[in-house]
Amino acid sequence: MTNRPAGWYYYAMKDIKTILSERSVGSAVTAKGWARTKRDTKNATFVELYDGSCFTGLQCVFDAAASTEGTLAALSRTTTGAALAVTGTLVDSPAAGQPVELKATSLEVIGECPADSYPLQKKAHSLEFLREIAHLRPRTNTIGAAARMRDEMAYAVHTFFHDRGFRYVHTPVITASDCEGAGEMFQATTLDLDAIAKRGEAVDYSKDFFGKKAFLSVSGQLNVETYCMALGKVYTFGPTFRAENSNTTRHLAEFWMIEPELAFAELPDDMELAEEFVKHLLTWALERCGEDMAFFEKRVQPGIIEMLDSVRTKKFAHMSYTDAIAELEKRKEPFEFKPFWGCDLQTEHERYLSETVIGGPLIVTDYPKELKAFYMRLNDDGKTVRAMDVLVPRIGEIIGGSEREYRYDVLVENMKTKGLDPAAYWWYLDLRRFGSAPHAGFGLGFERLLRYVTGIENIRDVIPFPRAVKQADF
Ligand code: ATP
Ligand code: MN
Repeated sequence: MTNRPAGWYYYAMKDIKTILSERSVGSAVTAKGWARTKRDTKNATFVELYDGSCFTGLQCVFDAAASTEGTLAALSRTTTGAALAVTGTLVDSPAAGQPVELKATSLEVIGECPADSYPLQKKAHSLEFLREIAHLRPRTNTIGAAARMRDEMAYAVHTFFHDRGFRYVHTPVITASDCEGAGEMFQATTLDLDAIAKRGEAVDYSKDFFGKKAFLSVSGQLNVETYCMALGKVYTFGPTFRAENSNTTRHLAEFWMIEPELAFAELPDDMELAEEFVKHLLTWALERCGEDMAFFEKRVQPGIIEMLDSVRTKKFAHMSYTDAIAELEKRKEPFEFKPFWGCDLQTEHERYLSETVIGGPLIVTDYPKELKAFYMRLNDDGKTVRAMDVLVPRIGEIIGGSEREYRYDVLVENMKTKGLDPAAYWWYLDLRRFGSAPHAGFGLGFERLLRYVTGIENIRDVIPFPRAVKQADF
């Protein structure tokens, strides 16, 4: 234990964000963080200290003539990435780019960072390379900004719902409902499958941990619906698992999803909620994350600030699936995948609709029932369901939602046509037997939202530790 005054804790120490925003010139300051850069001039050494609290670092200036032997020795051990404690006085900065700087009087090297072996040198690294050092990449500008943005957006999600009376429900990660219809599932088992195979036996799942086959959840929706039918307005926000066997910049095997569910609501209510929600998140990013957004604008996706700003003030366009197909069929240049009524919209279709036809976010509704999950409400035409997908430029689908089928008989019929066993969903069906009511909800992929807001191209760079095909390191 280091010596510390009574009542002093690390968390009470001012971080650089606070120091820079308070600008209390003349005050004594000790700041701890990591050296981002060190630059020597004839009379002084400049160290930019970064502690992650904000994008900007604290400029620490060591006057060569006024520095003690000890400080000079510490400076010579200071390299990019070293952990430091710097003490000094906050002064107005003569240099452009920062209002205040630290006139440093002492320096302690808490942890050295050998320049010859540290993989993060000053030069810019590719995001591909950084994925191979996922334990160090949060120290870079891009991944650091993405991490702060992720935290801000999560906070904005909770704020949005809390302010509107929604309750946060924690749905389980492990589920025994085979086939929720949303994607390929990962199995969760404690059986020693190798040993069983070696013995040449068949797997007996009654001997498995749960006494039956279990999986990681592909969606919290079915569970959250039960709480919707009790608390009215609810949402879940947690990790979701899909064994997506495709290597794309928009799919992860483990991602986070936000799923609100509204009682006594129909599709138009759901669409309104989705639009208001997306706009709230964009507004939060623009108004509260200015520094990191300025970085994304400059280095990642020029024009993103203006684009997001225009989105939050315009009404989202609406289009039925049938009209969307007609729009796609009108296009002269062929798509890679030729669109037809009944086909699932591909990303190229989704992007064309939102980027070219509309020029902004677009909500497509009423998809053919064959394309969508069993729980979506059947329209009177008997062919389409009350589904809605929110499509945005650059990304394609960001939200998928629907009004739920609340009529018992129709729901059972839907299950049967999709080859599902209604008995396995007895508890879900009970919701339609006891006080059933129209309700609706949607799922927003948190990482897709982050790609949209930050302009970062690859979904693997907006989650700390991406899990995808052949990728589960760290
Ligand atoms: P897509 O067709 O783009 O794969 P989906 O139709 O399978 O998406 P839904 O089942 O509707 O998606 O899931 C709701 C939301 O979750 C999607 O709109 C998307 O934002 C997000 N999402 C779905 N799959 C993934 C994934 N593998 N990685 C990251 N986000 C995902
Ligand atoms: Mn999918």
